[in-house]
Amino acid sequence: MSDLKNIEIEVGAPTSSDGTSVSGVSSNGVTTKTNLMGLDREAMEAYFASIGEKSFRASQVMKWIHQLGVSDFTQMTNLSKTLRANLTEDAHISVPEIISDNLSEDGTRKWLLQVPGKSAIEMVFIPEESRGTLCVSSQVGCTLNCSFCATGKQGYNRDLTTAEIIGQVWIAKHLLAEQYQTDKRIVSNVVMMGMGEPLMNFNHVVSAMRIMQDDFCFGLSKRRITLSTAGVVPKIDELKQACPVSLAVSLHAPNDDLRNVLVPLNRKYNIQMLLDACNRYVADSQRARITFEYVMLEGVNDELEHAHQLAALMKTVPGKVNLIPFNPFDGIEYKRSSNSRINRFRDILHHKGVIVTVRKTRGDDIDAACGQLAGDVMDKTRRAEKFRQSLVEKIQ
Ligand code: SAH
Repeated sequence: MSDLKNIEIEVGAPTSSDGTSVSGVSSNGVTTKTNLMGLDREAMEAYFASIGEKSFRASQVMKWIHQLGVSDFTQMTNLSKTLRANLTEDAHISVPEIISDNLSEDGTRKWLLQVPGKSAIEMVFIPEESRGTLCVSSQVGCTLNCSFCATGKQGYNRDLTTAEIIGQVWIAKHLLAEQYQTDKRIVSNVVMMGMGEPLMNFNHVVSAMRIMQDDFCFGLSKRRITLSTAGVVPKIDELKQACPVSLAVSLHAPNDDLRNVLVPLNRKYNIQMLLDACNRYVADSQRARITFEYVMLEGVNDELEHAHQLAALMKTVPGKVNLIPFNPFDGIEYKRSSNSRINRFRDILHHKGVIVTVRKTRGDDIDAACGQLAGDVMDKTRRAEKFRQSLVEKIQ
């Protein structure tokens, strides 16, 4: 695209064992120092206790890191000189390296970030009139292999650390402040809808979401954080206890036969089990609603009967439906439903009393739309190779 702004940033700093870049490392390029970027309040207080310091140090340091964007202990002027020197010795504050930074014509901005394991992940910022949404990755690749998702086709390498997850928010906050030249909050919402299945990396994702909510860090309310899942049922119950943020569920099909094909996880946790978990999730909240994502695939899940089946399901759970026009990528045979089919589907749901919206496609000129986030995954499964092989066979 002609008016795309491409900013390339050099990569090359050594990395720490928890997956972030750091200076002052041992000869093999790996440090055993603690990365304070990845510590939520409980972990930060435990860290300061372990070095003989009082717990209020946790608030001070979290504020320096996340609110003020300071990653150099010597600049933390309300800590004693001795403590600053000790922290420099014992800890570091590091985030993933930026490999590329692209701005779409519609203002969507996508970053490719390098993480150890010869891989890269993607994150996307979507500006709108009334809010700015950051879409964050939780894994390098994904294990679930949904049949229409680019991330799934890349295979899976590993889970991201807490530092790598919250580091995405940290990077975006500070780069967007430069771009928009304001101290006002630009990232008003975070969605865990980037690469990976967040509930398959539960502990790190929960810690990162706690840091997002902490008043000394990003101060986002739980309603402004949305976790999207393909339906890892037992973890939905755990999430309610650990960190009850807004929930989005990738439904994509209104019956088990079809969902088994599109979202293979359905063979383990079927639609009824999933909807039961959703009802438990919102059981004691009058206002809470679950968002059900439904990708529109021409001739696959966009027929009249599918709309009627979906409307019937929606009578059993407090939720709304978000129709996502399918975003195609190389080598995939699915096609996006036409606008008229999407509108017809929407109207049926609407007439049946279901709250329904159609997601506006953003950032597709820079491959930043839903399901196009592929990063660069050093696959540890054989899946990416099999997908490549099937493409070769098709061409021959
Ligand atoms: N694993 C989580 C998080 C991914 S969120 C989940 O499944 O919810 C990304 C959303 O985009 C999901 O709803 C996903 O199903 C959807 N998606 C994936 N590939 C897509 C594509 N090619 N076009 C449109 N939406 C897609």
